[in-house]
Amino acid sequence: MTSNTDEPTVIVVGGGIAGCQAARELAVDHTVTLLERDNVATGATGVSAGLVAPTLFYSDRPAVATYANEYVRRFDGTNGFEFHERDRLDFVRPTDRKEANATATELAEKGFPVGYLDASAVADRYPQFDLEGFAGAVLYEDTGWVDPYTYASAVRSTAEDAGATVEAGVTVTGVTTDDSGVTGVETADNGHYPADAVVVAAGWRTPQLLPDGASVPVRPYRTQCIVLEPESPLSDDFPLGRLGDEHLYFRPEHNGDLLIGGAHEPISDPLAASTDADESFTLEVADFVPSFIDGFEAAGFVNGWSGVDTASPDTRPIIGPPPGGPDGLIVATGFNGLGVMASPVVGPVVRHHLTGVSIEFSPDVFDPDRFDSVTDTFEYVSTSEI
Ligand SMILES: Cc1cc2nc3c(=O)[nH]c(=O)nc-3n(C[C@H](O)[C@H](O)[C@H](O)COP(=O)(O)OP(=O)(O)OC[C@H]3O[C@@H](n4cnc5c(N)ncnc54)[C@H](O)[C@@H]3O)c2cc1C
Repeated sequence: MTSNTDEPTVIVVGGGIAGCQAARELAVDHTVTLLERDNVATGATGVSAGLVAPTLFYSDRPAVATYANEYVRRFDGTNGFEFHERDRLDFVRPTDRKEANATATELAEKGFPVGYLDASAVADRYPQFDLEGFAGAVLYEDTGWVDPYTYASAVRSTAEDAGATVEAGVTVTGVTTDDSGVTGVETADNGHYPADAVVVAAGWRTPQLLPDGASVPVRPYRTQCIVLEPESPLSDDFPLGRLGDEHLYFRPEHNGDLLIGGAHEPISDPLAASTDADESFTLEVADFVPSFIDGFEAAGFVNGWSGVDTASPDTRPIIGPPPGGPDGLIVATGFNGLGVMASPVVGPVVRHHLTGVSIEFSPDVFDPDRFDSVTDTFEYVSTSEI
């Protein structure tokens, strides 16, 4: 498709799910070029576990949860993307029972398919779990999972279908400006790309690319996944799950294996971080899973890996004009291990800030200027604790 020269030009920096979503949204009425230093979905996106549970993480923002929930269902079947619906159990310790029950009741009253099950009700429905030490679980029936690489590729294709250009292997070195605002980006090998607006969605590298005066409070953290092969494949209705105090979550794989994630830790040098799962995490999983889920006594280790994502001070993404930034500059970063499920909001929020149109939910929860101070030394909070 050729570009319309009357359209504003936008450079999107970063081909993770955030950058792909921004490009997809804007490509219909902007001339969009997405620049990715490596390949699309080679950052956090490509190594994500792909769990989707917006109702759980945005219970205080029902309109955000509803938008994200509806998006994955609407996008299902587009350019090879599949949303796999699965129930999700958030296991609850006796000390947390009252609060969990209240949360479930509140969500149900807001119209979400959520309920509290005591341990015997969980055992009736999901006999494969050993609930000793648990009071029950909150059951979410609007959750599921996606293959993150396929998802990002499908969003990228949709952006290209709408006219966006995607250039892989192009490293942006900085955003350029003049007195009126952004003028484009400088790249390591291809020179200057002019643009009316720039969306920096470069994960933990985002702060490095901003012009002087603009800042965003994010820091890198590392998290891990392991896949185990049970003695026999998990059933088709095996749920997603989370054990908050164990800092573990899980989901079934296509072939009946089990993916287990956890071990979040802030790091200072992402480039030096191992991309393998640590032996200590592997042993923790090997110890815990057979004691909690039937059929894993003689489980096989399939593979394990780790990835680096971007934390924000309050665990919520940062999408919009950064404080101190020039006109035409937008950031989309700080997805805190939830960027696949939160990614549907990126397009509308970026559009809102670039064009002023109102959108279906309030974007203020993502505002970059919601923090009192901008620092990269804030205390890291894992989303397994919320
Ligand atoms: C192990 C693991 C498990 C996870 N599990 C889940 C889950 O179950 N559910 C969920 O919702 N989320 C999950 N996440 C989080 C999710 O993957 C991220 O929040 C999300 O992918 C972030 O997307 P992004 O586009 O912001 O960043 P990235 O995917 O990291 O994309 C940023 C891109 O910018 C590019 N880039 C950087 N600098 C430059 C530059 N100078 N020039 C050009 N390009 C540049 C990078 O190469 C990269 O491709 C998980 C993350 C990890 C690591």
